[in-house]
Amino acid sequence: MSRFFHIFIIQLNSGLNIKAPGRAVIYSQLGNNIEPLLKYVVAHEMIFDLHSHTSFSDGVLTPRELILRAIENGVDALAITDHDTVDAYRDLPAGETGIRLVAGIEFSTQWENSGIHVLGLNIDPDSDAIVAGTRFQTKARMKRALRIGEILEKKGIAGAYEGAAGLSKGGYIGRPHFAHYMVNSGQVDSVESAFKKYLGAGKAGDVRQHWADLPQIIQWIRDGNGIPVLAHPLKYKMTRTRLKRFLDRFIAEGGQGMEVVSGKQMPYQTADMAQLCEEKNLLASCGSDFHMPDKIWAELGKFAPLPGNVTPVWERF
Ligand code: AMP
Ligand code: MN
Ligand code: MN
Ligand code: MN
Repeated sequence: MSRFFHIFIIQLNSGLNIKAPGRAVIYSQLGNNIEPLLKYVVAHEMIFDLHSHTSFSDGVLTPRELILRAIENGVDALAITDHDTVDAYRDLPAGETGIRLVAGIEFSTQWENSGIHVLGLNIDPDSDAIVAGTRFQTKARMKRALRIGEILEKKGIAGAYEGAAGLSKGGYIGRPHFAHYMVNSGQVDSVESAFKKYLGAGKAGDVRQHWADLPQIIQWIRDGNGIPVLAHPLKYKMTRTRLKRFLDRFIAEGGQGMEVVSGKQMPYQTADMAQLCEEKNLLASCGSDFHMPDKIWAELGKFAPLPGNVTPVWERF
């Protein structure tokens, strides 16, 4: 497998700390007969964080804050993959951002009875397909929020829709907004228990039927020049047989990759996902799924490297 290295030369009198961020090694020491200021070539394996969220969906940082944090953490290439929207890409700092940005999105859909997330990586956010897709999903999200509100109302949660809408930005309402409203209004004691009782997989407020179906989502991504990648395959709690059946369907519809590393996971899980990825001939992706600094989400760039037996998705960028 080919590895991507970020190679840079340290000037000895530059005051730069030679301890480059990330997985750095001193690649070679240059001879003394060359320009004395250029002493070391330092290479570090490039860190691709291809899954992250901003305040345009359910993250807390603005695109600018997210990019600065990624740079601080030594990330070389970052994909902002907000849920069903590319609005973050219309709100980037002007000019050079100091990091390689890979345009992305995380689409919501369902397959059989499971809520599924599909990343579109290296998309053209201005393409007709992505514009049409985000428009459809935004409407779906609005209708769904009203429905979730009605359902919660029947369960005795007063004012849920208005409360969630009040916490959202620019009309984007997700389940986390409902969860925060329930905590703020004292109707549950934590976001975790809001998901556990009302919003998580299979609970009354887990409404999925409004989303576009899987073939449509994959089509939008491919027509938008992107690569469809299954997000966090371990999060769906599917049996191995069912996950394989899903992947066969995903591939048949034009899916091309899966996340082998998603945030915090155990080494055996990484090895397992890599084996599945190889077996299904998919491209491998990795990302933090960063939403905010807290105990649930991994930090930007802080996750295990992809194992050597898989083909990184960025080889196709
Ligand atoms: P939605 O896009 O409205 O379906 O909301 C899904 C989002 O809810 C996920 O992307 C997570 O950010 C968040 N979420 C899902 N499960 C949990 C949980 N158990 N605790 C906290 N946040 C969660
Ligand atoms: Mn989220
Ligand atoms: Mn997700
Ligand atoms: Mn995500």
